[in-house]
Amino acid sequence: MRYGFIIDQRKCIGCHACTVACKEENQVPLGVNRTWVKYIEKGTFPDTRRYFSVMRCNHCDNAPCVTICPTVALYRRPDGIVDFDGDRCIGCKSCMQACPYDALYIDPETQTAAKCHYCAHRVEVGLEPACVIVCPVQAIVPGDLDDPNSGIARLVATQQVAVRKPEQGTQPKLFYLGADEAALRPAMQEAGDRYLFAEASRIPVPGGPNVAGRAAAVAGEGVDLLGMARTVYDVAHPERPWGWKVSTYLWTKSVAAGALLVAAIAAIDGLSSAGPVVGLAAPLISLVFLALTTALLVLDLKRPERFLYLLFRPNWRSWLVWGGWILMAHGLLGVAWLAAGWTQSYMAFFALGWPALLVATASAGYSAFLFGQAEGRDFWQSPLVLPHLLVAAVTAGCASLLLAALAVSNDPRVAEGLRMSLWFSLALNGVVLFAETFTAHATQDAARAARLITRGPYRVRFWWGIVVGGTAVPLVLLVVSPQPWAAGAAAVLGLFGLWLWEDIWVRAGQALPLS
Ligand code: SF4
Repeated sequence: MRYGFIIDQRKCIGCHACTVACKEENQVPLGVNRTWVKYIEKGTFPDTRRYFSVMRCNHCDNAPCVTICPTVALYRRPDGIVDFDGDRCIGCKSCMQACPYDALYIDPETQTAAKCHYCAHRVEVGLEPACVIVCPVQAIVPGDLDDPNSGIARLVATQQVAVRKPEQGTQPKLFYLGADEAALRPAMQEAGDRYLFAEASRIPVPGGPNVAGRAAAVAGEGVDLLGMARTVYDVAHPERPWGWKVSTYLWTKSVAAGALLVAAIAAIDGLSSAGPVVGLAAPLISLVFLALTTALLVLDLKRPERFLYLLFRPNWRSWLVWGGWILMAHGLLGVAWLAAGWTQSYMAFFALGWPALLVATASAGYSAFLFGQAEGRDFWQSPLVLPHLLVAAVTAGCASLLLAALAVSNDPRVAEGLRMSLWFSLALNGVVLFAETFTAHATQDAARAARLITRGPYRVRFWWGIVVGGTAVPLVLLVVSPQPWAAGAAAVLGLFGLWLWEDIWVRAGQALPLS
């Protein structure tokens, strides 16, 4: 059994009865919606046409929201309905990043994720979903796609139906009949700053309305400008789910992982003379930044008191869960490393070297797989994310340990080794960063997000903050001056550049509208 919906766009009159019935049936609070109707218009007066798009959860057979949810709060029922359990939700918002259809929201009353659940409570007692019975023109057709005699199965088999974003591979079970392509593709819709009956409440691209589609058309990206549509009515959409806490978490984790990683490499390399930097400063820096990382992760949850559900009610397919365990292992190894440094046990260093290297690498890199599970965000799907996170961690480790060496070590060889390592890692970081922004992108949305960074609203921060301030200046400082102040300034600037990159990478990835 696989329940699905067909929305017959040829019949829909845009009356919003489905939206209202859903709100009433499921007690959906003000400001959020489980289903909504969007109006778009095409053409030029007098040759214009208005289309209505009914949006909601697609009850995907291959649902990325279910895969990423760390606590099994989202799950697929045997009847194909993708349902949720608010009592298990920790409010991490990862499902909102994984869903390519903008179907989820955070309930402002419970602070947990919610969405259309096909009125499962009605279906279980033989009733149809509330939106279906209220629709005055029977534009919403529900039913079992596996039953060849059902109306929905017959329509899917005999009519030309469309789904939103088929390229995402989510196998959606929400089909559209007679829908114009522009009504289903946000890239083909342009929103001004006001709607038919209301002010536009969402500004997806910082500093301006959604001009993503037109910008792509003008740039010759294959978007048909004549096919472009204007969004003339839409509901309010939430702010981007992840903000400064997530970007800062990536940065603090880079420092925590990098400090342990560089110390482990030094120990494996036999650098026992590194003394207080490798033995004490490295684990201390690593543990402090690991604590900050954990604090940021917890603070970013809508239900922080449920943080431990991540460990005790885990979905083992979610990289959030694996990340939690990796960070715990990182903490344990950091403490063991500190104990080895405190007791000056160089045998312990050598014993801990490889495990520390592996755990620090995992700690630095697991976020690439987590962001990869955020399938709604095309910009985060780049294969360069993992190498970039690893190089960023080594850079952050070299920079933080160099600052520590300048403060506590009286062995000039340590600072010199770290100076050289910082130079090479910064240069490599710059190369990977350029590759991530300027090489070909797999999708138009990913290319547009990259363009927001290099030519759009983030360009000043990118060129002046990251390329010049965070990369070129520290590289030059490390070459032209052997003075400690120059090395310290280069380390601080390099760390700042790394944070700035994480911040605009996280923001640009979420800047394009999903619906
Ligand atoms: Fe619904 Fe989005 Fe999950 Fe698909 S990925 S089941 S559309 S919430």
